Amino acid sequence: MSTDKDNSSIKDQDEKNKLRVYCTFCLSKMLNAGAARLTNIEFNLPYMQRKGEGEADQQELITDFWLVEDMYTFENIGVSHTVDNVKYLACADCDRGPVGWHDLSTKKSYIALSRVKHE
Ligand SMILES: [Zn+2]
Repeated sequence: MSTDKDNSSIKDQDEKNKLRVYCTFCLSKMLNAGAARLTNIEFNLPYMQRKGEGEADQQELITDFWLVEDMYTFENIGVSHTVDNVKYLACADCDRGPVGWHDLSTKKSYIALSRVKHE
C-alpha cells in the first residue's frame, strides 16, 4: 500500500497510472497501466460492501480518483446501482464496491485510488 501523499509511486509524469489497477479482494484486473489519469475531485462514495447487502448509509469523502474517459477502457468493471446521474462501479468478478462511479451525463468514470490495488 502506497502511503506517499502525492501518489508519485503510482503515477507517471503525465499523471497517468504507472501500475495496473486491480480489485483489492479478488485481484480481478480493472485497468491496464496508462489507461487512466489522476484527478482530484470531491465525491461522497458509500462504504464498500457486497452487492445485495443493501445500501450503505455511511459515505466517505474521497478526493483522489483515476479518471477513465471511456467505459471500454476497462479490462473488467461491474456496475451496481444508479442514483440520479451516477452509476456506482464495482468489481466485475466479486461484486465488491463501490470502487468508483460513472457520470451518466459526461460518460466519464472515476475509480477511487484508495479502493483498488496498484501493482
Ligand atoms: Zn473483485
